[in-house]
Amino acid sequence: MKRLATALLLALALAGASAGAGAGAGAGADPAAEDGLLANIARRAFDAPEAMLAELAQRWPAYAGPGQPREAAWLMARGRVLLHAGQIEAADAIAVQLKAREDGVERSWLLRALTQERAGKPAGALAARALAGLDGRCPAGDERRAVREQGCDFRSAWDALRILQREQFAQGAFVLAEAGVRRALALARAGEDRHLVALSQGMLAVTLQAQDRMDAARAELRAAEAEAQGDLVAAARVRNYEAVVERRARDMPASRAAVEAALQLAEQADAPHLAAQLRSNLVDSYMHLGLLKEALAAGQRAMPVLQRFGDRYYERNLHHNLAVAYIKLRQFEQARQELAKVDEFGMDPADLVPRARELRELADTWAEAGQYKEALAALHGERELTARANERNRAAALEELGRKYDSAAKRRDLDLLARDGQLKDQQLANRLLAQKVGLAVGALLLLSIALIGVTLLRMRRAQARLTANQSLLRAQSERDPLTDLSNRRHFLAVMDQRAREEKTEGFQGALMMIDIDHFKNVNDWHGHAAGDAVIVEVSRRIRAAVRDTDLVVRWGGEEFLVFAPALPGGDLALMAERILRGIGGQPVETPTGPLRITASIGFASFPIGGSDGSAAPALRLHWEQAVNWADMVLYKAKAEGRNRGVGITAVEAPDANMLAALLQDFDAACINGQVQLRQLPGPS
Ligand code: GH3
Ligand code: MG
Ligand code: MG
Repeated sequence: MKRLATALLLALALAGASAGAGAGAGAGADPAAEDGLLANIARRAFDAPEAMLAELAQRWPAYAGPGQPREAAWLMARGRVLLHAGQIEAADAIAVQLKAREDGVERSWLLRALTQERAGKPAGALAARALAGLDGRCPAGDERRAVREQGCDFRSAWDALRILQREQFAQGAFVLAEAGVRRALALARAGEDRHLVALSQGMLAVTLQAQDRMDAARAELRAAEAEAQGDLVAAARVRNYEAVVERRARDMPASRAAVEAALQLAEQADAPHLAAQLRSNLVDSYMHLGLLKEALAAGQRAMPVLQRFGDRYYERNLHHNLAVAYIKLRQFEQARQELAKVDEFGMDPADLVPRARELRELADTWAEAGQYKEALAALHGERELTARANERNRAAALEELGRKYDSAAKRRDLDLLARDGQLKDQQLANRLLAQKVGLAVGALLLLSIALIGVTLLRMRRAQARLTANQSLLRAQSERDPLTDLSNRRHFLAVMDQRAREEKTEGFQGALMMIDIDHFKNVNDWHGHAAGDAVIVEVSRRIRAAVRDTDLVVRWGGEEFLVFAPALPGGDLALMAERILRGIGGQPVETPTGPLRITASIGFASFPIGGSDGSAAPALRLHWEQAVNWADMVLYKAKAEGRNRGVGITAVEAPDANMLAALLQDFDAACINGQVQLRQLPGPS
């Protein structure tokens, strides 16, 4: 679960809560009362979309029809209700209608933002557009006047602020997020909407906790609870904010109790959708407390409801969480079924990073359950996605750079053309002049030749700079900026080159896969800066323990690959020992103090040989397979308690097919002696 689950919990806390009114006022001439009524309908639609669609239709005559001054407000309400009912296309059509109205443009952006958000997609940019338009009537600072006198649509502004702060929060911009929430709170107070006041205070508590201001966070939660008195849905959502706060503060029992209380309130409020989302959150709480059966039960109850409400985002995540629970319970078949459901959702390119995280979690869970084959498959999936995400970031950076160079080049071309034009004018004038003064013509001609020469020279210099920059860029793209080690791209290039140059078939040399133990704890307990410092120092220690001719690669976050092209098997074990001692022998200095760090290592020498020391030519492997073997023994080292190295000493296999089969059931191959391993304990 881990980070993924916090994200989910937050998604519920921050998303489900659309701006809505506390009391149901009657529709009529008073626009404020009518807005309150419409907002209330939109809010109740979260749990009863069909009923609210009907209610809106029934009240529709109260709204005087197209072109009326209040049309935008009615359309917006209908758009929100349609969204909750899962009628996305109809909601889109309303966004188009709104866009065409002078007083509907901001609401149109907001409706689009809400649509994106419902699908779990980034919505901040759209919300920012809506807010920019609303700012005219809702300037920050004097919310009371804005709402009472300037006709500020405070509920739309509130929603836009909520979406924006949610993204800022996700990016770790807590101060910014807090400022946004405070503005939302001021708007809710000015509009005297107690429901929104309570939710704002809940959101504020979460941003305060994120800044380690736990007392202030608790005070906001108490205030929010008081504000939510008599409004069961608001009270349930406030308790869920409390759960988020406690979870982030790592008080799992308190977090669980808060979600359970929220669930009880949601059920009293007869809010089935909210209840199902809360049950999904409970799955996470229970799993953290080791209550796997309870987790499954909660998840199974939530699933059909989420499906009924077309809540695809929650449903997908719940399938994933259930799969993790099933693996932990060793019910592998059910786990596979849940995973197949996750796959049915397909993958949006925007979701590369969260999907990679899911796969990472799956890999760890499969490995913990001893299912190395599935673990490896998930791990490879994760690596591929991470590589794609990195590639995408790099491509975007290159594109940006290219655009810069392109526009510079275009400007130069234009300059040259302009100068050329001037030159031609000049020549014409010269020729006329030449009829009178022949000598002057010669001089001017010389001058123009010089001008062209200078221009050409400049052009060539600019070109040379461009080429130099490009090769610098290429070299940089093969280094990891944090550690200055080679990156995976460089390793691939080396492998390609060796494959081209060498006559022998298959990969030769020693590989060592190193992964820092429990590194997440370093990040979680000491912060990312300490995590980075550890990665840098560990890289340095690995480098110090190997020869200059060995290639050290930052393979992933805190994973390193060492490639020693020519190293006898025995020396490889010595090298692994040096690295284990180098990393674990003495504490690593970090900004938050010294930390004891250990790592696990998987190593093997290729071509893989039999126990008689022979290496059958048939057992040559492609380098990617060699990396798989190193990965596999790394997993072994992790599974056997970490802070150790595990190496392959001998493998008995008649041919390459049999060799590949061994990897499929690695544990069995170890037990019956087809694979022989060697263990190296790390420093105690
Ligand atoms: P294990 O012993 O099983 O390896 O446990 P672990 O906690 O090390 O687990 P895992 O390998 O999954 O942890 C990798 C973590 O490393 C997750 C990610 O947040 C973090 N990470 C990845 N890259 C960086 C980075 O550049 N800097 C920092 N600070 N953290 C990173
Ligand atoms: Mg690790
Ligand atoms: Mg790792």
